[in-house]
Amino acid sequence: MALTGIQIFKLLPKTNCKECGVPTCLAFAMNLASGKAELDACPYVSDEARAQLAEASAPPIRPVAVGKGVRKATTGGETVQYRHEKTFFNPTLLAAQVPSDISADDLAAKLKNWNALQYERVGLNLRPELVALKDVNGDAGAFGAAAKQIAETSEFNVILMTENADVMKAGVEAAGSKRPLMYGATAANIDAMGALAKENDLPVGIKADSVETLVPLSDKLTAMGLKDLVLDPGSREPKQSNADMIAIRRAALKDGNRSVGFPTITFPCEMASNLDVETMVAATHIAKYGGIVVLSDFAGESIFPLLLERLNIFTDPQRPMTVTEGIFEIGNPDENSPVLVTTNFALTYFIVSGEVESSRVPSWLLIKDSEGLSVMTAWAAGKFSGDDVGMFIKKSGIMDKVKHQDLIIPGYAAAIAGDVEEELPGWNIIVGPREAAHLPGFLKEKYA
Ligand code: SF4
Repeated sequence: MALTGIQIFKLLPKTNCKECGVPTCLAFAMNLASGKAELDACPYVSDEARAQLAEASAPPIRPVAVGKGVRKATTGGETVQYRHEKTFFNPTLLAAQVPSDISADDLAAKLKNWNALQYERVGLNLRPELVALKDVNGDAGAFGAAAKQIAETSEFNVILMTENADVMKAGVEAAGSKRPLMYGATAANIDAMGALAKENDLPVGIKADSVETLVPLSDKLTAMGLKDLVLDPGSREPKQSNADMIAIRRAALKDGNRSVGFPTITFPCEMASNLDVETMVAATHIAKYGGIVVLSDFAGESIFPLLLERLNIFTDPQRPMTVTEGIFEIGNPDENSPVLVTTNFALTYFIVSGEVESSRVPSWLLIKDSEGLSVMTAWAAGKFSGDDVGMFIKKSGIMDKVKHQDLIIPGYAAAIAGDVEEELPGWNIIVGPREAAHLPGFLKEKYA
């Protein structure tokens, strides 16, 4: 049961030291109660109070980690129904399925191809995280061998898919060190699966026939001491599956139903006859509210748009993605290289730096903090004014690196040219193109 702000306040040190970023412990308590603050922001909470508060402030949907080390992937942990209320925290994990009777050579080839599906976007490495090994013939030896191969020869985390506890045991023995998700606890096998998961401290996926039948299975595993659960309501028709995802999320968040307070797993691979339709179904599950989405394959034309959708949905809508203010060198610039300035909106930086790089004209790119706004928005909001840009250039240190006094400003900020000139006497302010795509031609013409 969630605590009120006053109940939380009683557990805080009441020193009003302000280290948590707000003036009083009461204000911090209120923020904690409304989900606007994290308990870790106060370094002085006693262990006893921390235990009580952690339980009360635990996310209504438990975060569940699959894998270990740098590749550990977490799903769940969400606190809001709608992204605009706060943010979604843990991106939907994407998996592709392989059958357990696959040959070692074919599996090696698949893993190699899938591992190559990585994309750089706004400074992030986007890639799928999971391989779901599906038992197709009850052959525990083959299942264990394939699980071992995935665990030991790839960077993917593993979902072990079988309803046969003996086959699952072989998979756990082979890949248990990688903390796989054991998927396939049903009403028929729940005791054996629960015991195996508890013995090996592994997360368990529950497979039910409906949202309603999930509840007793979840309660039973929780009573066995298992905390890391993943829910599959069993729907294999897109409309019903979408409705189930929403029902589970609502029940966990709005009704505080702890029995369904866990991330979900969905199987577009079992809802469509081709990867195109699977991809569309997967897209709906990324938006609402799949914790893990399993496809039949990873292919560039499918996974790339899904990764981008995921990136967009799981970024904080209240905090634009930014890059650090400073000087960025592109292509070993020297004292004669052009100097460009733009804002610190991540997308702006990566598009502009990419175009400058493709021009092959070594350049200095100056990034001014604009609170993550793009050029036009920053200019309109007064975060990229001529005075500010001029002062930023002065203190940036660029004057020690170049012997010329030319500064290229974005075309969309042409209106600040006069003010920058006033702030930087002797400098020649050049208005660059409006669109980053025109930068290569612009730079080549002027500087190549
Ligand atoms: Fe109170 Fe802790 Fe914030 Fe200090 S850091 S004001 S003790 S809540």
